[in-house]
Amino acid sequence: MEPRQVETQSQALKSAASKAIDKARDDIIGLARAVYASPEAGFEENATSALVAEKLESLGLSVRRRVALTGVKAVRRFAAASPTVGIIGELDAVRVPAHRGAAASTGAAHACGHHAQLGMLYGAAIGLDLPEIASALSGSVAFIATPAEEFIDVERRLARREAGEIQFLSGKQEMIRLGAFDDVDMAMIVHTSSEEPVGRFIVGGTSNGHLVQHVRFTGRAAHAGGAPHEGINALQAAMLAMTAINTQRETFEEKDVVRVHGIITRGGTSVNSVPGEAAYEGRVRGRDMAAVDRIAPRIERCFKAGALALGCAVDITSIPGYMPLLNDPGLDEVFAENAKALVGPGSVARQPYDETRGGSTDMGDLSHLIPVAHPYVTAANGVAHGADYEVVDYDLAAVIPAKVIAGTVIDLLVDGARLANAVKQKHRPALRKVDYIRLQAERFRITHYKPAEG
Ligand SMILES: [Zn+2]
Ligand SMILES: [Zn+2]
Repeated sequence: MEPRQVETQSQALKSAASKAIDKARDDIIGLARAVYASPEAGFEENATSALVAEKLESLGLSVRRRVALTGVKAVRRFAAASPTVGIIGELDAVRVPAHRGAAASTGAAHACGHHAQLGMLYGAAIGLDLPEIASALSGSVAFIATPAEEFIDVERRLARREAGEIQFLSGKQEMIRLGAFDDVDMAMIVHTSSEEPVGRFIVGGTSNGHLVQHVRFTGRAAHAGGAPHEGINALQAAMLAMTAINTQRETFEEKDVVRVHGIITRGGTSVNSVPGEAAYEGRVRGRDMAAVDRIAPRIERCFKAGALALGCAVDITSIPGYMPLLNDPGLDEVFAENAKALVGPGSVARQPYDETRGGSTDMGDLSHLIPVAHPYVTAANGVAHGADYEVVDYDLAAVIPAKVIAGTVIDLLVDGARLANAVKQKHRPALRKVDYIRLQAERFRITHYKPAEG
C-alpha cells in the first residue's frame, strides 16, 4: 500500500477503536476502581486475576489463567500469527497500611497505580475487538496481566520457592522462565505517575537494577531481665549491621545512583526474652548491574560485622532482583506519536535514556530480551508507595492510555505489520532467554557466617 493509504486506513481504525473505548468508558473505569477496592499483594492476586480474566473472556478471548500462580494471558490473532505485540498490566498492590484504600487485613493498597494499568489493558482489548481491525491487521496482540511486580514479602516468596511453587520471586521473571513471553515480540505497559503537571505522557528513561537480600541473624534467647548475659541478641546484631551499612554511604558514587535500604521484618517475639532471631529484608540498587555487583559484597560484609560483634550466626540469602530498564527507541517513537495525537505534542515529554529516578521494575528484565516501551502517564497525586498516592483522573489514567495503546498496536500491525517487523529487526536483544535465566539463577546464593568463639 502507498504510505498515504496506510495513513488513512490507520486513522480510520484508530478512530473506530477510540469510539469503542469511549463507549465502554464506565466499564473500563469500573474495572480499575474494582481492583483498587480489593487490593492484593504479589502472587496473592487471586480475585484481581479472576476479574481481569472474566473481563477479557467477555470479549470472546480465550484466557490462560494461573500463569506463574496468578498471571493471565490471552492472545487475539489477526491475519498472520506473528509478530505479536504484548500489552501488559500489573496485578499487584504494595503494602501501605496507612493508605486510604488499604485492605484492613493485609495492608495491601494500590499506592503504585497498578489498578489503572488493568483498566488500560481491558480498554485496549475493547478498542482492538472490532471486525474492521481484525481484517486490517497482521500478527497478534497478547493481553498479559502479570503478578508480583513489587518485590516485597521476600520471606513468604522464598517459602513458595522452597515449596516449588515458583523459582523466581517476581511475576515477569517467573513468566519469562515459564515461556509466557516466548511468542511475544515486543511489549508495552503504561505506569501512572504523580509527577506534575497532570495530563502528560513521559516516554523514555531507564530504571535501576537491583539485588535483593534476605538476612537472618541467629543468636540465643534468654531471660532479658534475669539472664541477659546468657543470651546472644540477634536484634543488636541486625542494628549494628544497619549502622555498618550507613558507614558505606560516603563511598557511593553519584553516577551509580546507588540506593541501599532495608527493613527489619523480625526483631524478637517477647520483650522479656533476648531476641534470639532477627531478620532483615533489603535491596542494593544501582544504575547498572556492575554497580550493584560492586556494592553488594560490601553490604554483605556489614551483615557479618554485626554478627561478629555479637557472636551470632548470620545467613545472607542473595536473590536476583531486577535488571535496569532498556526502553526501545523505535517502539517509544510509535507510542509517543499516538500519545501526541490524543493529548497534544506539548503534553508528551521525552526522558533521556540514561535518566533513572532510582526505582526498579521487572519490565527491566523483559527489556533485556525483547523491545519494550514503559512510559508514564501523570494522572495521580501524592507520593508513590506513600499513604496519599491516588489516581486523580481515571480518564487520563485508564481511558486515554487505552486509546494510545490501541493506536500504537494499529500502527505496528497495519500494512502487513511493517512497523512491528521494523522494530523487531532493528532491536539487538541484550540477552538471550537462556542466558537471562542462567544469569539470574546464578544470583541466588546463600552465605553462612558464624564468627569463631572467643
Ligand atoms: Zn510500585
Ligand atoms: Zn508500580
